[in-house]
Amino acid sequence: MARHPLRKAEPETVPVSAAEGRILAADARAAENAPPFTRSCVDGFAVIAQEVAGATEQLPVRLRVAGDVAMGAAAPAILESGTSLRVPTGGALPPQADGVVMIEDAQDDGGFVVIRDGEGVRDHVTLEGADVRAGDLLCERGTTLSPAAIGMLAAAGVAEISAYRAPRVAILVTGDELVPAGVPLGPGQIRDSNRAALCAALAAMGFAPRLYPRVPDDRAAFDAAFALALAENDAVVISGGSSVGERDYTPDVIDAAGPPGVIVHGIRAKPGRPAVLAAVGDKPVIGLPGNPVSALVVLEAIGKPILLRMFDITREPLTWRAELSEAIDVSTNLEHRIPVRLTSGPTGLRAQPLIGTSAHSHILGFADGLIVVPERVGHLAAGTQVDVVPFSATRR
Ligand code: AMP
Ligand code: MG
Repeated sequence: MARHPLRKAEPETVPVSAAEGRILAADARAAENAPPFTRSCVDGFAVIAQEVAGATEQLPVRLRVAGDVAMGAAAPAILESGTSLRVPTGGALPPQADGVVMIEDAQDDGGFVVIRDGEGVRDHVTLEGADVRAGDLLCERGTTLSPAAIGMLAAAGVAEISAYRAPRVAILVTGDELVPAGVPLGPGQIRDSNRAALCAALAAMGFAPRLYPRVPDDRAAFDAAFALALAENDAVVISGGSSVGERDYTPDVIDAAGPPGVIVHGIRAKPGRPAVLAAVGDKPVIGLPGNPVSALVVLEAIGKPILLRMFDITREPLTWRAELSEAIDVSTNLEHRIPVRLTSGPTGLRAQPLIGTSAHSHILGFADGLIVVPERVGHLAAGTQVDVVPFSATRR
């Protein structure tokens, strides 16, 4: 799967003001210096620092106030020796002004200003480009833009960025027993919870999920539904039917649709043993087990990294270090993913394992992330430091 070439999301131009949560398709660099001119970062009097350096209570320095700096206007061309300029926070400074005395440390004296403390006046000057310099690399391709990153780009004069268009991901839910919420349950029927959960999880990962009508456990109907989903989307996620039962058609339907078809069927991991990883042409296809916990965990842990390759994102997610609140005992013949709930304690984060079967959606409903118990480990003692991978289906 790692080597099979997948299609890339298309780039599009997006105004920075509308780019929150978007994934950059190209590096974003500063268009201008920020700040664009040398300015005061306090309300006060612009001075030549050296002229006030020695000012004390006993030996104050008295400077003529030669004028005012207005906001949004150019600085006066020159600051003459023996003078100062009244300047507001953010006001432009003339080249000679390398210090600003805070208004609180100065006394206005009818056209003059008296300064009794000349220390630290240079700290009140922000040099042009001190924040960001034109051409600086601000955000790399593949970055998901946060509100703060948007502020940084806007401050550096960036009006538009190139972001990936969200790839369209079809969701096909299979199973004769499934009924959506709001429709009365008949005998033997259960709620289709994956439809809503997978849609929300894919959206949280940055994709454009597209829901299709439920697919009955019927080969011909499944073939037709898959062909349509594949034709209309960049990728397909299938819930259910991935196992080896008589009516588990997922692998056959994918294989029949075109090469390379199924690349992996079955993983040595729990939950998710019957997962299917596939592609038709350059479109990834992920076959998830129908059990609600398996479906979301496999999408998160195995499907997501494959789907994110369409955004050129290959980095590992950041993890949180936490102390396990109670022991975990699982079989040693598989890799296990255990949902955990995080709380903050006096010594840092604590991870409470949420144990249950793959059919119990409530264990994921309370989870903040997943921990991995590798094959052959089986036991983790209470108090063990574990790495928690944040879970998209709860919050990024
Ligand atoms: P399957 O993977 O199709 O063999 O389904 C495995 C189990 O998950 C069965 O008990 C199904 O009833 C259940 N299941 C399948 N699809 C869903 C769904 N969309 N929502 C909730 N449970 C499901
Ligand atoms: Mg089924």
